[in-house]
Amino acid sequence: RLEVRHLTRAFGGKPVVADLSLTIAAGQVTCLLGPSGCGKSTTLRMIAGVERPDAGRIEIDGRLVSGEGSFLPPEARSVGLMFQDFALFPHLTVAQNVAFGLRDGREAKARRVDELLERVNLRGYGAKHPHELSGGEQQRVALARALAPRPRVMLMDEPFSGLDNRLRDGIRDTTLEVLKEEGTAVLLVTHEPDEALRMGDEIALMRDGRIVQRGSPYNVYNAPVDRAAAAFFSDVN
Ligand code: ATP
Ligand code: MG
Repeated sequence: RLEVRHLTRAFGGKPVVADLSLTIAAGQVTCLLGPSGCGKSTTLRMIAGVERPDAGRIEIDGRLVSGEGSFLPPEARSVGLMFQDFALFPHLTVAQNVAFGLRDGREAKARRVDELLERVNLRGYGAKHPHELSGGEQQRVALARALAPRPRVMLMDEPFSGLDNRLRDGIRDTTLEVLKEEGTAVLLVTHEPDEALRMGDEIALMRDGRIVQRGSPYNVYNAPVDRAAAAFFSDVN
């Protein structure tokens, strides 16, 4: 469970994230949707712990990870990250990539790797290197790697935008399925309305550093809060 309260960040005096609050329950997917430059990635980076908020608090499963003077580093937050340009390590095998963040003993590690490769439909791929895989397969390995340490929150910043359309649907479905099985709270950033409508249990529409509307995909699509929100969805059919 992710709880964000009054998150705020400015760059050079310009507010980029302004008093942003949101809650995501375990196993739920919230899509953060909005135009370029509205502050989506900055929000994600603060939750991940790679950017310091000016104000506000962040809790993960009831534990304060940022705020009131504390600021835990990414590896202490139980967050998984999947970014568009978050590449696999080219010199490591698929299995080594997936095991990278694991601190378990050798056997437990191998078991977890097998289990995850099975889940993302890449059984038998463990000994291959990333360059031997298609873009979609690499993305599934990245998902397995992000999930390996059992993060309670998965942060995804346009993770599918590097893939061609043909691959994208399949990967989206696999990703959702695996994240639901693991009971991970997911915050998925996108600027593509159709992706948000398809993947979100909830959509948070962001503009100028604020969430201007929150609701089910049905609700946000059918009852946009204003003209700009309506225009944003007008190309989707
Ligand atoms: P996109 O859809 O294009 O990825 P975004 O919603 O993710 O956009 P952000 O990357 O969060 O947008 O950036 C929001 C604003 O903050 C932009 O105007 C950006 O230039 C600015 N910004 C982000 N990071 C920094 C930084 N480290 N220093 C200065 N300005 C920054
Ligand atoms: Mg961005």
